[in-house]
Amino acid sequence: MKDLYRQIIMDHYKYPKNKGLNPNKESIIVHLNNPSCGDEISVQINLKSDIITDIRHSGTGCSICCASASVMSSTLKNLDKKTSIETIRDFYGMIRGDQKISELLNYESLAFKGVTNFPARIKCATLAWKAIEKGINSHKGEKNG
Ligand code: ZN
Repeated sequence: MKDLYRQIIMDHYKYPKNKGLNPNKESIIVHLNNPSCGDEISVQINLKSDIITDIRHSGTGCSICCASASVMSSTLKNLDKKTSIETIRDFYGMIRGDQKISELLNYESLAFKGVTNFPARIKCATLAWKAIEKGINSHKGEKNG
């Protein structure tokens, strides 16, 4: 099982999904870095009403950080703001060692469960998720709804 999880992380590291920014005037872009590891990430989101219609990421970092950004982008794309924030919270909970089984976390997100045992890597695994959380929270939403 652990090897399978490691394989998911390595696949996303080597073949990241939604990599490369493609901003337009609707985009929200958040930059974050993790000095303890040297990870740097930019996350671009586009929202239409309350739906995240696009997520792109770019940056450099360790395999955990880059793979996590790829998994985050494919997990949260097309979710509404409320569900995405709940999913992000559940991801943080899992990384902290919460034993609750989250129905929101997909198989690829669960691959990061083992990071719980490596406290130094927790910031790596959550950096992209923190960036998008910040971006979602900065989105004011549309008037009248
Ligand atoms: Zn890192």
